[in-house]
Amino acid sequence: MKKLMLCSLAILLSLPIFSQKAPKGTPTGSITPVAKVKNVILLIGDGMGLTQLSAGMYFNNNQSQFERFPIAGLQKPYAANDLITDSAAGATAIATGVKTYNGAIGVDVDSTQLKTIMEEAERRGLATGLVVTSTITDATPAAFVAHVRNRRKEEEIATWFLKSEIDFFVGGGKKYFDQRTTDTRNLYQELKDKGFQVSDYTQSGTITPDPQKKFAYFSAELDPPKVSEGRSYLAPMSILAIQQLKQQSEKGFFLMVEGSQIDWGGHANNSDYIVSEMVDFDKTVGKVLDFAAADGETLVIVTADHETGGYAINPGSEFGSIKGVFTTTNHTAQLVPVFAFGPGADLFAGVYENTAIFAKMKQVLGF
Ligand code: MG
Ligand code: ZN
Repeated sequence: MKKLMLCSLAILLSLPIFSQKAPKGTPTGSITPVAKVKNVILLIGDGMGLTQLSAGMYFNNNQSQFERFPIAGLQKPYAANDLITDSAAGATAIATGVKTYNGAIGVDVDSTQLKTIMEEAERRGLATGLVVTSTITDATPAAFVAHVRNRRKEEEIATWFLKSEIDFFVGGGKKYFDQRTTDTRNLYQELKDKGFQVSDYTQSGTITPDPQKKFAYFSAELDPPKVSEGRSYLAPMSILAIQQLKQQSEKGFFLMVEGSQIDWGGHANNSDYIVSEMVDFDKTVGKVLDFAAADGETLVIVTADHETGGYAINPGSEFGSIKGVFTTTNHTAQLVPVFAFGPGADLFAGVYENTAIFAKMKQVLGF
């Protein structure tokens, strides 16, 4: 009954906007209120263009978890100062809804700090988390928590994890926390003092997370290993993040998961590297979709910040054997895909700017 009343209230609120234009009796599908979303899980494949996605799928017996998404769209990833974006400007646009210059972390073209979707979520009492396969201070995760003029200042970015209200994070870059050169702080210890359960790759045995505590795990001193070197934490840590964040707040959570190294395979012009990282990311997407399908109140969005390598699948390729070629060792300007599953997913169909993802996430969360 309570649910019904909320529903009709939402219809009433949205009706006046359309009653101005639409003649009486005209069916207006757009007045359907957006279903209430409690949790948002945003997965970013860094450098994941359509070719990267295709290569992963064709390599993996022509199968992909992405086939489970009912909604797909395309977004325009260019930066404010360059048609070719980098990961900093790309992630800042997704995290804040504002296009900025390449290298900018959570700041606009005038270096003014922007509010990120994670900060908006934290302000409203939602739990938040980040799980990545790069350093945790690399551009993509950084754009969700930090406000720094230059992405290379990873020690400065690390200090933002102490200022932030983030509840869970996993990634490399331990060095930027406990072996700092720009000051004498030990942020690893400071995280513990702030109530985090902190652990890292040097510890053996299983780590049992305390559901009452915030959680930080450093997967490497700097960059975590490749999948081909034995890295396998992206899927299990994403599931752990979901379990932990669910217990941190009754209001819901925002989680960003990044397949960081798809991009690195592109920069290296190494098709096998791209494919193995795509398969790992795909597996993670599948686990997240399993949770969302059972949960019913979680919106899952998967997108990229840009394409890397001008990657193409050339003749001579077969299922299970990809002949990849490249036009550059840098990023390209091609449109990148967006996939959505769960309540509010319909909003993500179409062709739009990367900044629209921020607005759509805010809309579904009722911010
Ligand atoms: Mg990245
Ligand atoms: Zn890159």
